[in-house]
Amino acid sequence: MRSTAHHADVVIIGAGIAGLSAAHLLVRAGLGVRVLEAEPRVGGRLTTDEMDGFRLDRFGPLLCTSWPELTGTPGLGTPELREFAPGVLVHSEGRRQLTGDIRSARGALKAVRTRSSAPRALRTARGPRAAQSAYGHEQGAPARGGGRGAVVTGAIDRARLGAALHRLAVTPAARLLARPERSAADALPGVGLPARTVDGVLRPLLTALLNDPALTSSSRCADLALRDYARGGLCVPAGGSSALPELLAAALPPGTVRTGVHVTAADITSVRTKEHGELGCRSLLLATGAGAAAELLPGLRVPSFHPVTVLHHTAPAPPPAGRSLVLDGDRSGPVAYTAVMSEVDPSRAPEGRTLITSTVLGAPPPDLDRSVRAHLAALYGVATDGWELLAAHHDPEAVPAMAAPHDPRRPVRVLAGLYVCGDHRDTSSVRGALHSGRRAAEAILTDLAVPGTHEGSPRLPEAA
Ligand SMILES: Cc1cc2nc3c(=O)[nH]c(=O)nc-3n(C[C@H](O)[C@H](O)[C@H](O)COP(=O)(O)OP(=O)(O)OC[C@H]3O[C@@H](n4cnc5c(N)ncnc54)[C@H](O)[C@@H]3O)c2cc1C
Repeated sequence: MRSTAHHADVVIIGAGIAGLSAAHLLVRAGLGVRVLEAEPRVGGRLTTDEMDGFRLDRFGPLLCTSWPELTGTPGLGTPELREFAPGVLVHSEGRRQLTGDIRSARGALKAVRTRSSAPRALRTARGPRAAQSAYGHEQGAPARGGGRGAVVTGAIDRARLGAALHRLAVTPAARLLARPERSAADALPGVGLPARTVDGVLRPLLTALLNDPALTSSSRCADLALRDYARGGLCVPAGGSSALPELLAAALPPGTVRTGVHVTAADITSVRTKEHGELGCRSLLLATGAGAAAELLPGLRVPSFHPVTVLHHTAPAPPPAGRSLVLDGDRSGPVAYTAVMSEVDPSRAPEGRTLITSTVLGAPPPDLDRSVRAHLAALYGVATDGWELLAAHHDPEAVPAMAAPHDPRRPVRVLAGLYVCGDHRDTSSVRGALHSGRRAAEAILTDLAVPGTHEGSPRLPEAA
């Protein structure tokens, strides 16, 4: 196996999480690997910027603690994850409500009992700084939207929702993938839950999980996303999403990853770079996003995309949401979901400072900060005039759309010697990207007939 300045067994284009995870399996098998990354740092869409002690994700992905890829990907080890509170805080028709744990009927009922027997000051999502404010209390501002203590959906309905999510959690992924497929929006009315629960909780939750405001995604992908949520709940990497690709890159042999190298042309045996001429290889793996992959390999399918904008604000005091994900149940403004990230992961803000991260799906409004702040005032029930915008980032090609019919296991082998991976070959998520990287590495090892390799590495559960 050769790896020199001008040749490698496998050249991987793109040091996003898919390319880096594939690199690990190939290196472990004894192959010489070069990962070429156009940007000055690794991570692709998982990039975290540092600003005045804040750690700001350009894109704020929500991960699920149940994903086996988070603990079973070689090189990733056991990443530090920060969990959101179980359940969500929904805002609908001017009311705000903590749902409690809706991942099982028992959890939902227990949350109802706990809330009704607890003093009001304790009926709040708990977080390191949550005790400062009870849920529903304004901090110096008059109540907005009314409904303190009013419910978006009733206790029995939430228990039914919990039972439905629990059923998904225990259904094998293969069975979900065999169900009839249509759009998630078309499938929602048939889930057997009252419209109030569907519209107030399930729809906004699914919108956040899929980053898909109109829920045009395949109903199978929606089922899988809800199943992951029901099996583990939501989390983020401690310190920012860039922690994941940085862990992978740091665990590769020195010199494997070259940043600031833009590949301009590629075929099975060589790649041409803007900065360093040509590099020969035995196999080539395209691990870029879908658009860049199709530029290098014309004919490759390019899906449509969901645009996403992420905004980071700092506030004089944390709004009352604890570690809960806050969802907009009635789409009354541009924000689909938001969270007080300094409560979820205190390492993202300097000591004593507050970081609120909010996500806008679809085309952003022209007066972005003003309309987002007005909406956040309703969602959190506090005045937001004193909030300061730290950063906003828009990506028109943030997440590949997964409209039905969607194949969550698109082939990664174009032909012997030429492979492609990334979230666009799988499900549009960190999990899908990791899984596609693994599938591509296994295909390369099979084609190169490298002995004693991937058979020895831990296998991830199939599908989902
Ligand atoms: C706003 C937003 C929100 C998201 N929310 C979630 C979420 O809640 N949950 C979730 O699981 N996922 C979420 N995702 C999706 C997740 O971030 C992606 O699925 C995942 O990061 C994709 O990884 P990748 O390795 O496939 O691609 P990328 O991260 O895009 O990596 C591709 C790499 O290839 C490099 N490259 C491209 N062209 C070239 C070239 N010619 N030469 C050299 N290098 C090149 C790029 O610079 C990049 O580093 C979100 C994404 C965005 C943008």
